[in-house]
Amino acid sequence: MAKQAVQLTKKNRTKFRFQKLKMCKKCNRYSVLKDHHCPTCGSTFVELDSLIKSIVRNKLFNEACLILILVCIGIVGAPTVKTLYYSLIAGLVFCLLYVVLTFFYFKSENFIQLKLLLRSDLSKIKSGIHYDTVLAEEEARDNMLSMAYEKYREIGDFILNDAIKLRQVKLLNDMILRSDMELEIEGLVPSGYDPDFVTYTLEAIKINRSLVTKKCIGYFVQFKEEVIRDFGMDSLITVAGTALRMKLYIMEFSEFIEEYLDYFPKERVLRLCSILHANPDINWGSLGDKTKSLVSVKYNYDPDFKRFVS
Ligand SMILES: [Zn+2]
Repeated sequence: MAKQAVQLTKKNRTKFRFQKLKMCKKCNRYSVLKDHHCPTCGSTFVELDSLIKSIVRNKLFNEACLILILVCIGIVGAPTVKTLYYSLIAGLVFCLLYVVLTFFYFKSENFIQLKLLLRSDLSKIKSGIHYDTVLAEEEARDNMLSMAYEKYREIGDFILNDAIKLRQVKLLNDMILRSDMELEIEGLVPSGYDPDFVTYTLEAIKINRSLVTKKCIGYFVQFKEEVIRDFGMDSLITVAGTALRMKLYIMEFSEFIEEYLDYFPKERVLRLCSILHANPDINWGSLGDKTKSLVSVKYNYDPDFKRFVS
């Protein structure tokens, strides 16, 4: 199948994962998709934050009503004017303390209600997300790749599991990737070896080398043999080359880099030399020695390497 040219919209980012959840009050159904309206009944989704706030507001209102009723009973039932005043003063002090305490513990009350809601609605949340994946799968079947991928991307942000990651990877492999797309590798790294993920990563690296992170390099190191078997050594040379992006990666994966150093293009060797040269205090171990000997054998008379050759 020929790859599809698509447009992708930006991901819906939230500070906390639970903030992706929204609910249709009419269908009593949860969703993590970007849609503002329920696809079943058309009602506007209520975000979990607002839902929690309204639960807390109702709870506080009910408690405030209960306090007022108790104060009124105290006043009505007071046998003398003196006890009536006592009841009134006690009621006012109680109300004041309640307001002050509510103000101080408002955030923790929100958190408690959030935990209770997530616990009580767990099966509803699960079935809501299952419905989200059914919608995504239908779009994937109808060849609406970008819409299906965007749905899986939102679901994958909420549930971290290999099946959702690999659905995204398969869809991405059917698209023409471009630099203006909001691509990622880190969030798609599966727990086991998967050739579709490797295919996607090697394609994404061509577009944006900075997508490669420590987790991604670690994956290629872990499944080195499988990658060489299915994709050849060039793919590992590429990934090892991307590890030169940061000093920390070079330190972390020095053995991996050393293994493929002889096959690096000149530009990558130059990059490695610049980093080693700029950080003489770091003990680069055998990578430092191997780089020096490579430069002296291969680039000894190259003017670009003049400053590294002593
Ligand atoms: Zn609905």
